[in-house]
Amino acid sequence: MSRIFWVACPKCKKKFYAAVDDYRHKDRKMMCPFCQARFLDEEADEIVDSD
Ligand SMILES: [Zn+2]
Repeated sequence: MSRIFWVACPKCKKKFYAAVDDYRHKDRKMMCPFCQARFLDEEADEIVDSD
């Protein structure tokens, strides 16, 4: 099972989760499922890494 982290969209501020292997510390943009904004993890409003 892949690890996930919670991320808050910098545009609409809503939280969703993404796969660590795909998006954490990667140069690949996530897409917000609420407003369709695209952004990098370092641009996120908030990030919560789970263990
Ligand atoms: Zn959003």
